[in-house]
Amino acid sequence: MATLQITDLHVQIETDNGPKEILKGLNLTLNTGETHAIMGPNGSGKSTLASTIAGHPRYEVTSGSITLDGEDVLEMGVDERAQAGLFLAMQYPVEIPGVTMTNFLRTAKTALDGEAPSLRTWTKDVKGAFEALQMDPAFMNRNVNEGFSGGEKKRAEIMQLELFKPKFAILDETDSGLDVDALRIVSEGVNRAAEANEMGTLLITHYTRILNYIKPQHVHVMVAGRIAESGGPELAAQLEAEGYARFEQAAEVSA
Ligand code: ADP
Ligand code: MG
Ligand code: MG
Repeated sequence: MATLQITDLHVQIETDNGPKEILKGLNLTLNTGETHAIMGPNGSGKSTLASTIAGHPRYEVTSGSITLDGEDVLEMGVDERAQAGLFLAMQYPVEIPGVTMTNFLRTAKTALDGEAPSLRTWTKDVKGAFEALQMDPAFMNRNVNEGFSGGEKKRAEIMQLELFKPKFAILDETDSGLDVDALRIVSEGVNRAAEANEMGTLLITHYTRILNYIKPQHVHVMVAGRIAESGGPELAAQLEAEGYARFEQAAEVSA
């Protein structure tokens, strides 16, 4: 088992009006094999958390820590984080002009493992992943994310989960902009990767819809840069019924 541990994390960004603290003492422990959902209103800092784990240079950690089995993640470069087993699916996947999907997948896999995958199994694995995500094989020769629809980008991303086998996947708004069929295909991909590789999943979402397909054991409500409450799946059901108002009011009182 591996553990991703976030302790009293404070993160700020530079704005036109000076530094602004977004994460204000966030604590979270995620083990492999577990699925956690972080839910929260817009602007609560969910994407900031994902970007900070990813090592986005814009987000400055002013105190607190992120460790993976005791190793300091914040000391790692972006590539090292991926090699350590962290996979970040971002809200807005980037296009990589001039790099085909096939080349990207193989290059990334080689960088992650420190050696090129055996051509025979790799070709088979890629074919299997395309089929599982119901992606047309024609996408192999297209440039990464270039001209992909929102749903195609998400599927291409989840395909990477199946091929790269990370220890932990941080999925930020993976459900946004997906129709019901795409949501099901993408969710099944996440569930397969979680089961096959004992992956730990951090599912960041504004809506409860995706929780019909991916079942977290732990649900956290994030408000104003902190975890306001943690519980089981019943907490998501409660949010669906009541919304975030109760948590937002409590955060205002304590601010
Ligand atoms: P969420 O993902 O929960 O909607 P974000 O992490 O995107 O929240 O944003 C949290 C807060 O930080 C918001 O008030 C947002 O405006 C601010 N913020 C995040 N990134 C930036 C940025 N690059 N520039 C200015 N403000 C930002
Ligand atoms: Mg603190
Ligand atoms: Mg966000």
